Amino acid sequence: MTAGPVQNWFGSITSSPRQVVEVTSVEEIVAVLTDPQRYPAPVRAVGSNHSTTACGVADDGTLVVTRKMDRILEIGEDTVTVQAGALYIDVNYELRKQGLQFFVNVELGNLTIGSACCGGTKDASMPGEFGQIASYAVGVKMVLPDGSLLEVDESDPDLLQAVRSSYGLFGIVYEATFRVRKLAAMSLRHEKFTFEEFAARLPELQARGDSMMMYINPFRDTITIEFRRYREAASTSRLSEWQWKLRNYVWSHMAPLYGYQVTRLVPWRRLNSALIDFYNGLIVFALTRVIKGRSTLPQAQQILYPPVSDNARYTFSIWAFPEERYLEALRAYYDLSLEHYRRTGYRINLLSVGYRILEDQSSLFSYSYDGTVITFDPVSTGSHGWDVFLREYNTLCSDLGGTPLFNQTNLLTRSQVVGAFGDRLETFERFRDRFDPDCRLMNGFFRELLTPGSPS
Ligand SMILES: Cc1cc2nc3c(=O)[nH]c(=O)nc-3n(C[C@H](O)[C@H](O)[C@H](O)COP(=O)(O)OP(=O)(O)OC[C@H]3O[C@@H](n4cnc5c(N)ncnc54)[C@H](O)[C@@H]3O)c2cc1C
Repeated sequence: MTAGPVQNWFGSITSSPRQVVEVTSVEEIVAVLTDPQRYPAPVRAVGSNHSTTACGVADDGTLVVTRKMDRILEIGEDTVTVQAGALYIDVNYELRKQGLQFFVNVELGNLTIGSACCGGTKDASMPGEFGQIASYAVGVKMVLPDGSLLEVDESDPDLLQAVRSSYGLFGIVYEATFRVRKLAAMSLRHEKFTFEEFAARLPELQARGDSMMMYINPFRDTITIEFRRYREAASTSRLSEWQWKLRNYVWSHMAPLYGYQVTRLVPWRRLNSALIDFYNGLIVFALTRVIKGRSTLPQAQQILYPPVSDNARYTFSIWAFPEERYLEALRAYYDLSLEHYRRTGYRINLLSVGYRILEDQSSLFSYSYDGTVITFDPVSTGSHGWDVFLREYNTLCSDLGGTPLFNQTNLLTRSQVVGAFGDRLETFERFRDRFDPDCRLMNGFFRELLTPGSPS
């Protein structure tokens, strides 16, 4: 259809495909994949293009945009079947009308179903549940590179496990079915700790069984934990949303806009840092004093970001650590943040976050494959110095035995990926050879990270 550079939502990654095709049907996807003359490789599907890495880049190839395939096909008693381009938030609010909800309510409402079923996601695990959306994908339909159609479901668990991590490298997803759950009232509250308090109380906090998401400020030594749990027996007829709306407005708009303006307008380092921490302190105050509720609507956690980002945008990165080694890793992250600031003058200008996610082997590249993990994720307006910081963050996290996500951890190296996933890479490559022997779907980003012999 059209061609030209396409950027990810944040504007940090540019893709220069020769063809950009906005597909509206399965037949159109088949037509693209079976005509290599007109639609050159690599053929990469994208949804909302919110990834912070080049996982969806199709340089010199063909970009397949799925957003126009957005129909909800069926809502069952405990499943929903949707086309690949639908937005997660739209489906979640439709589920609400039927007294249902997704298990995992990631903050990003713009996430598309296609990415959700075959890529990495994270939200703090609710008690006894997974924190990765793909783990609830129980049926995936794809167009393979040769134009044939493949349906994968729970009858082939090994293949389904690989498909849930396939990032469009086996085929282009056109439809997916997710297991969903009964809508439930969600309680929400926050508590603030110092590192030492958090370290002393972590076993007790884990034993509470609540979900735990954290706002972390290494510069002021504050760890503010969001605790959530379902109140299964409570009525769902009047669930409150204002708490999430306020949190979402501050988190997705006010905080990044403030961080951007302070970084731009205040070059004096000490004042700049003081202003950032003053604002971060206000956010923590509001979280602990105001943002709480006994019966909130789970869907209201999700944010629909504007289609084109503005100065209120932010970016982030992520690594996950076995929870038994988390304190050591978090201490090292504190040290890196402070030491890097002293050495270079660069500091992350928004609150970092962290998620506790339960053990999960449902997908091959699950970052909690070997046990329950907790993450620490720097968040930034992407000001000058961010990429340099990220490379040091990646080195630290890899040395500490962490695990990254291909669509959310930027600037990875092959050796870091090998360190994190080991033998699982070979298993993945065996599946990929089976479905895409000619590497029609393979781009430079994945070639470098997944293929043996690539530079480390
Ligand atoms: C502001 C912001 C907030 C965020 N918050 C969260 C959060 O709270 N939790 C979280 O988990 N993530 C979060 N993310 C990250 C985001 O969820 C992931 O990057 C996700 O992949 C984005 O979805 P997308 O539809 O934009 O996918 P894209 O970026 O378009 O694609 C992601 C990958 O999936 C592949 N793909 C997409 N569609 C298909 C398809 N139909 N068939 C085959 N392959 C396909 C692409 O090729 C690519 O490799 C956030 C990102 C931003 C920018």
